[in-house]
Amino acid sequence: MKECIFCQIVKKEIPTEFLYEDDLVAAFRDIHPMAPVHVLVIPKKHIESVVNISEEDEKLMGRMILAAKEIAEELKISEKGYKLLFRVGRHGGQEVGHIHLHLIGGARLKEDIRPV
Ligand code: AMP
Ligand code: ZN
Repeated sequence: MKECIFCQIVKKEIPTEFLYEDDLVAAFRDIHPMAPVHVLVIPKKHIESVVNISEEDEKLMGRMILAAKEIAEELKISEKGYKLLFRVGRHGGQEVGHIHLHLIGGARLKEDIRPV
């Protein structure tokens, strides 16, 4: 069975530069950036989607947002702002089945969330 691509990144089986890493989460640049800053923050533990989180993941999910905040400060986009995005499942447009928080910024962003 093909292993989850983001689990492979966590295990460094796919060489990827981390912008941030701690005991629970890691962050790296999106391979197809939508904006000047496009970073993905992921849990080290494999969880498929927000649909699959439970109370025991409360700290982990909070840590993802804190990491995104710190990366945004580091990349100097905090003052002007940015988007944090979780895609969830098919209607949400999620393509990779390992939770990831998109940190997108570095430019003024369009609102693009209306139905197809
Ligand atoms: P989503 O559509 O929310 O599931 O987003 C998945 C994101 O993962 C997309 O923006 C992809 O460009 C990104 N992605 C897929 N593979 C990699 C990779 N190996 N390294 C970095 N980003 C990736
Ligand atoms: Zn995974």
